[in-house]
Amino acid sequence: MSDQNSDQKPKAKKTPPKPGEKTRREFLRSGVLAAGVLGASLLGYYPVLQGSALRLRPPGAIKTPLDEQEFFASCIKCGQCVQVCPVYAIKLADITDGFGIGVPYIDAREQACDFSCDGLQCVLACPTGALTHDLNFPADTRMGLAELTRPDTCLAMQGQGFKGQARGADFKGVLRFSEVDRWNPIPLADHPFDLEICDLCVRLCPIEIRIAECAAEAENDEPQNTARVAQKIGNECPPRSAIKLVPMPSDDGVKRMQPVILDGCVGCGVCEMVCPPQIPSLTMNIKKTVDHPGGA
Ligand code: SF4
Ligand code: SF4
Ligand code: SF4
Repeated sequence: MSDQNSDQKPKAKKTPPKPGEKTRREFLRSGVLAAGVLGASLLGYYPVLQGSALRLRPPGAIKTPLDEQEFFASCIKCGQCVQVCPVYAIKLADITDGFGIGVPYIDAREQACDFSCDGLQCVLACPTGALTHDLNFPADTRMGLAELTRPDTCLAMQGQGFKGQARGADFKGVLRFSEVDRWNPIPLADHPFDLEICDLCVRLCPIEIRIAECAAEAENDEPQNTARVAQKIGNECPPRSAIKLVPMPSDDGVKRMQPVILDGCVGCGVCEMVCPPQIPSLTMNIKKTVDHPGGA
């Protein structure tokens, strides 16, 4: 039997580092490490510098790119706003979002804020004022501004109705339907529609719903009804409409309607969430609000 180790070369003896060599190596190693850390940090800043880090924020968060940095600075990433949201609209950014890890945002297409909590619970829960406590009612919110970004996909503009579940059977998003259960939001998929002409963006807009409730209350004037109780806990009547459908000119006899955003829009994102086409016709412009319609 041959000795397996017999043809192996003897291992080179490690020579101790010369004076000064160790410190040089350590310096180089630390330099590479520092460059890596700096690079990662700059990568994190990159989306901010590009403006692409702007995302829909919870009610009360501030909006301009300048404000966004202020928001990053004042948010301590405690997640209190996430905990109290009844529709789980608020998420915390993860590492892939770069700068702003742990900062809350809303993905309106997945789950918008529908003000189900009435009293802006996220604002009340925020310990630092990153969600400004100056906000009292949903209608005071300025999260962004809805825009008709894809008129070509809008069903109403093509004169089409809508039948079925707004975002399909598998969609997980929830909304409050007062006529079903005022206190517990239900899956959108559990509330199918049968509409002659699609008006889901108007029909499910929380501001429009509240305006209609206020009109009904004023007509009935029954102080004991539940809507009145809700009003008392901080869901005042919005002073202005947010969205409406207006008739479009038609030379073929087909009734077509166009969604028009009005100055009561708070940018909550519900219209984007519920819009049935795969590419939503309405999306949130987070650089604009009704107070700054030209953008930040
Ligand atoms: S509650 Fe306020 S401080 Fe805490 S994560 Fe939400 S926005 Fe940030
Ligand atoms: S929900 Fe979408 S498709 Fe329907 S009318 Fe509104 S924008 Fe058009
Ligand atoms: S129009 Fe859309 S974004 Fe504006 S308040 Fe209504 S649902 Fe929210």
